[in-house]
Amino acid sequence: MTFPKSDVVWMNGKLVPWDDATIHVGSHVIHYGSSVFEGIRCYATPMGPAVFRLDAHNERLFGSAKIYRMDVPYSETELRQAILDTVAANKQDACYIRPVIYRGYEQLGVNPFPCPVDVFIMTWDWGRYLGEDALEAGVDACVSTWNRIAPNTMPSMAKSSANYANAQLVKMEAVVSGYAEGIALDVEGHVSEGSAQNVFLVKKDTLITPPLVSSVLPGITRDTALELGRKLGLSVREERVPREALYLADEVFFTGTAAEITPVRSIDKITIGSGKRGPVTERLQKAFFDVIECRVPDEHGWLTFVREAGAATAGAARSTSAG
Ligand code: PMP
Repeated sequence: MTFPKSDVVWMNGKLVPWDDATIHVGSHVIHYGSSVFEGIRCYATPMGPAVFRLDAHNERLFGSAKIYRMDVPYSETELRQAILDTVAANKQDACYIRPVIYRGYEQLGVNPFPCPVDVFIMTWDWGRYLGEDALEAGVDACVSTWNRIAPNTMPSMAKSSANYANAQLVKMEAVVSGYAEGIALDVEGHVSEGSAQNVFLVKKDTLITPPLVSSVLPGITRDTALELGRKLGLSVREERVPREALYLADEVFFTGTAAEITPVRSIDKITIGSGKRGPVTERLQKAFFDVIECRVPDEHGWLTFVREAGAATAGAARSTSAG
């Protein structure tokens, strides 16, 4: 599939035509992976396009920039509004949103400080990340021979593009071996996460997911699944997971902005549970899409309606908490 172009890209405060949204090959980010970013989804709802958990994503973006000592030339309120303006300018009902904060063009040496901190925001149409039928049929995954980045090498709490060198190795190995996804273990051999998803196990009425110390990204869908799980009366635990617990789980699923809540039907060719979407995964998916598709009240304030947000005045409407 070729890239589905949108009309405009927001670059350093201006909306520029898609084809003109370019950067110089001498930009620091090209050479040293010096950028942090977000992946956010905007859903079509009966009340128009709505961005899911915008404030939590924005907070994580600024957190990633802080870890990498980037002085972002825009406030959180300004970037939040810029995201909404970009979706509105592209007249999209549903899209994937990608804000990127990166070290630009000035000098080339590992030291990034002389380079400007630049920002762009792209939006584009993106369907189901792991395939159209993945949400129902589930996917086949493998445990990767690549470990997830060690905690004292690169910070996994930062959504830095550099982390995705590791993620690409995990993903490519899975793909060439015929799997949809790879699950990486942390450097101690405990389950960490998929190349771009957090992983959950279901054992009876308990949801289990690896803790942040297992080198996982603090996923916003992960947080959403934990919250919805509690509301469904499940017990939820963040704890270290041995590899073999994956095989013995009743159900396993991935969470991610792109992957949403995707069942995993086999790992390393070992069937998980019944080999199809399990009842707890299905209940969680339903609770998730009920919020997104506005079938239940949005009691957490997870949706930001693009039309309501209007032109560049709305500012940070709801709470800025990541919870
Ligand atoms: N882990 C990694 C490495 C990811 O890239 C992603 C996708 N952003 C996730 C987990 C899931 O995070 P979220 O639910 O915030 O999209």
